[in-house]
Amino acid sequence: MIKNYRVNSGKGKRTISIDETLCKGCGICVWVCPKKVFTFSNNLTSQGFYVAKVLNKRECLGCRLCEIQCPDFCINVSELS
Ligand code: SF4
Ligand code: SF4
Repeated sequence: MIKNYRVNSGKGKRTISIDETLCKGCGICVWVCPKKVFTFSNNLTSQGFYVAKVLNKRECLGCRLCEIQCPDFCINVSELS
């Protein structure tokens, strides 16, 4: 399942999408984000992972480090006009 988080703040409008079927819960997005936007879900998926979720979406700068660094291509950051 793809979870979409809509950002609408002074730092711009965008959507952060996480494909939970691909996420392995490695935590790279949690550590790489300069604004600590991500955390881990409290619930195990059927595949046995605590997947990433967005916690502080209003802090997102749109830098796309999370999208670039995710080894499983789970994250997509799309700017909205
Ligand atoms: S970097 Fe990708 S695979 Fe790793 S926890 Fe984040 S979304 Fe999941
Ligand atoms: S785009 Fe940048 S600031 Fe926004 S969640 Fe990804 S790493 Fe964090």
